[in-house]
Amino acid sequence: MQDKLLEKLTSVVGAEHLVENPAQMGAFLTGAEAPLAVVLPGGTAEVAAVITLCNDLGVKLCVGGHTVSSKGLSGGVAMVLSRMNRVLEIDHENLVAEVEAGALHSMFQQQIAEQGLYFPPEPYGGEGSSIGACISAGDLDCKSFLYGPPRTYVLGFEMVLPTGEVLNCGSKVIKNVSGYDLIHFIVGSRGTLGVITKVLLKLLPLPEARRTIIGSFASLAKAVQVAQIIMERKIYPARLNLLNAPLAGQLAPGSGPIAAGPQVLVDLEGFQNSTEHLADELMALFRLEGARDALCLDQPAAIDDFWRQWLQLKKAYHDAAQDRAIDFLVGPAHLAEALNGLEKLVADLDSDSGLIVHILNGNLRLFPSPAHDLPALLQEVNRLALRLGGNLAGDLGYRLKCEELRENEMWQEMVALTDGIRSRFDPKGILAPGVHQ
Ligand SMILES: Cc1cc2nc3c(=O)[nH]c(=O)nc-3n(C[C@H](O)[C@H](O)[C@H](O)COP(=O)(O)OP(=O)(O)OC[C@H]3O[C@@H](n4cnc5c(N)ncnc54)[C@H](O)[C@@H]3O)c2cc1C
Repeated sequence: MQDKLLEKLTSVVGAEHLVENPAQMGAFLTGAEAPLAVVLPGGTAEVAAVITLCNDLGVKLCVGGHTVSSKGLSGGVAMVLSRMNRVLEIDHENLVAEVEAGALHSMFQQQIAEQGLYFPPEPYGGEGSSIGACISAGDLDCKSFLYGPPRTYVLGFEMVLPTGEVLNCGSKVIKNVSGYDLIHFIVGSRGTLGVITKVLLKLLPLPEARRTIIGSFASLAKAVQVAQIIMERKIYPARLNLLNAPLAGQLAPGSGPIAAGPQVLVDLEGFQNSTEHLADELMALFRLEGARDALCLDQPAAIDDFWRQWLQLKKAYHDAAQDRAIDFLVGPAHLAEALNGLEKLVADLDSDSGLIVHILNGNLRLFPSPAHDLPALLQEVNRLALRLGGNLAGDLGYRLKCEELRENEMWQEMVALTDGIRSRFDPKGILAPGVHQ
């Protein structure tokens, strides 16, 4: 059967777009398992033909932008959309773009910025992140409070279903949903419901001005207090983040490192006058609150470079932590209590462990040092989050919450519901074998 499948796949995408040599496949894969082949389709019709083949033969398939997770994909097919990377239309009048799913996120952002337009979602998957993956991952970032999460920008899509049909949904207008919101249902589906081939994205005008203000403080408690004063003054910037001292020490803003200590990072975007005015106000506030050092970046290149460093730092810590990062949310008003509670659980919060806080989202991400017993720490952090009205992020958070409340039935029902939706789309269960949701 394998030879027959390879032959048919070759006839769909062409021999030059099918990789079956294990050494060459490695460049497209993350994970240890080996699929039968990597295919690089050139358009929707080829995607549909590959999926139909896999569905007919009951072969597993996983899709990715420029790399694919091979988890659960032994003997299956990995589909890489890097050839489907065109920006098909930029409609200035309606502030909409139509983009192929394999387009690089960074390339797309740059291309529209050159035309005075803006797409705020910001994955930290690095230069290789694709637009299709941004929508399929469905994660929020630290700009989501001001600009809304990625789903806000999805006006429509084209998706090949696991059975090979092509589904088109949405149009260039925002008000086209009433009742079940199918357009946004695919956001976060992580390749389980189909392969997205094109997306219709809402754009914004590029902000006229930017400023980045960085302050270092004597303690985490002081840094969080300053962030809370900023919110009390009703200043809600594009980003308001906090880093503990070990992470902050790895960033070099503009002219070089600033005084050691936990840092508050503020990114202002908006009109010229208001942005300058707010930057002055924040610099004054930082000094008044006893910042060890405060710095305002006003040159676009320095600002871009700084936030690029920030994304790389997050990714580096995330990659190094593998599955040890603890991600939880409590709501901005409870951040001080959450940090207090964490400090009791993790004595080295401002020395060994890495800590990133997206203040406006109330999101704390801890990279505990290897000395900590992860399962025990997860339970404790979960209890702390629940006590403060929050939760651990994602499916894990929901499962642990159910366990803590002794509501295991609730968890089972949630799993049965999502499994049911998945099997309605994908009756043979061929898609995304490594994703459990
Ligand atoms: C706004 C935002 C915030 C993020 N924040 C975090 C975070 O806090 N923590 C974290 O761990 N990650 C986060 N991520 C995800 C992380 O950055 C991802 O690695 C990245 O977005 C995906 O990049 P990729 O192209 O390498 O992914 P890929 O590995 O290509 O894809 C990621 C997922 O999407 C699916 N997929 C890809 N393309 C398609 C398609 N065309 N059709 C259907 N399914 C597809 C894949 O099967 C996979 O499940 C965030 C992403 C975004 C967009």
